Amino acid sequence: MPSGRDVNTGRRGGGTTKKNAFCSFCRKSYRDVGPLVEGPGDVYICGECIELCQSILEQERRRRGTSKQLFTKVPTPREIVTQLDEYVIGQEHAKKVLAVAVHSHYKRLMLGTESSDVEIEKSNILLLGPTGCGKTLLARTLARILNVPFAIGDATTLTEAGYVGEDVENLLLKLLHAADFDLETAQRGVLYIDEIDKIGKTSQNVSITRDVSGEGVQQALLKMLEGTLANVPPQGGRKHPEQQYIQMDTSNILFICGGTFVNIDKIISKRLGKRTIGFGQESGIRAEADVKRLLPQVTSDDILEFGLIPELVGRLPVISALTPLDSDALVRVLTEPKNALVKQYQRLFSMENADLQFTEEALQTIAHKAQIKETGARGLRSIIEEVMLDIMFDLPEQGHGSRYTITKDVVEGRKPKFPIAEPKNKSA
Ligand code: ADP
Repeated sequence: MPSGRDVNTGRRGGGTTKKNAFCSFCRKSYRDVGPLVEGPGDVYICGECIELCQSILEQERRRRGTSKQLFTKVPTPREIVTQLDEYVIGQEHAKKVLAVAVHSHYKRLMLGTESSDVEIEKSNILLLGPTGCGKTLLARTLARILNVPFAIGDATTLTEAGYVGEDVENLLLKLLHAADFDLETAQRGVLYIDEIDKIGKTSQNVSITRDVSGEGVQQALLKMLEGTLANVPPQGGRKHPEQQYIQMDTSNILFICGGTFVNIDKIISKRLGKRTIGFGQESGIRAEADVKRLLPQVTSDDILEFGLIPELVGRLPVISALTPLDSDALVRVLTEPKNALVKQYQRLFSMENADLQFTEEALQTIAHKAQIKETGARGLRSIIEEVMLDIMFDLPEQGHGSRYTITKDVVEGRKPKFPIAEPKNKSA
């Protein structure tokens, strides 16, 4: 009632001066909480409760706003792929698989609000592929496109209750954090669980400590993936009986699990009835080509053989393999995405009124160095940072309008980094 007049009684609300009045919501007295607003029929409310009501309403408004946004428009798979292309290079097959799965997942949520006669099962996703090929990036970008909260957890930090380590519920807490503790929104978020392959219990698993987790952790994860009411400790850490929990329903959370599954190509080739390739006198390049060819043929049987329990594999029906990034792809990673490293540096230079260019050869050399590191695109940043360090150090003191060209020699540290700066107008 913005006018302050009650619609039913026509009576105006206002402050009260009755000294024995108390807030009808928190029961505190006028003497303790100060002025009260009086409503019809001896009802009062204090300032603190009004503030609380405001924040509850605000949260509710926000929640409705976001759910409306989500439910009126679920992007089509094609739209999802187009947006993924802005950030992720290559991995076309994985993009397609993800786009379809994610589209169906959020369509399923939409259906849940309208009709309940058909139940579409949730499809959690398993991404395989070497380090630094874009698994996390894909999951993160998806969450951004869908405007839902996103969190990353690491399966290797998890252990069974009773051992030193984290409970699986801590992963949910991360999602809750990402959603600013808005439970409703968190329950529709995306949770990426990395290193899922490291909790297998076969000979692939070499760590003793991980054997402690092994199957128990898989069981705990399984419950979460299936959909359960989990008790999340708001402060994190291990659960203990006296603690208050936040109950979180995981049935609408989209779980994307990732892992490198080292040597799974051997399992695949065995299943396909081929001799194991990539051993012995085979060259590294040949072996890489084999991995590239074999990985896309991965099935849930191979994952089982690798050591994940059948129930868990059953809860990850969508499997997609990402391929290692070759040198050309790494050059594209450097230059093409919206937040590409080269673009970021160029922006920094333009803020100093300077111009920065990389020669094609320089980019290829950086890509080659990253390939040697075997950490995929992840290695690019540290290499380019090292190349740029001295230049960045001196940049603010250089004359306005300087031009910088990074050549292969500069990348390889053969040429002193200066004087490669030249005034813009000289060569323009
Ligand atoms: P992982 O496959 O190990 O999860 P990430 O997705 O975390 O690898 O990749 C690490 C970084 O490398 C990303 O933040 C991104 O900058 C870059 N990167 C990796 N793969 C790609 C790709 N396909 N396209 C663009 N950038 C990529």
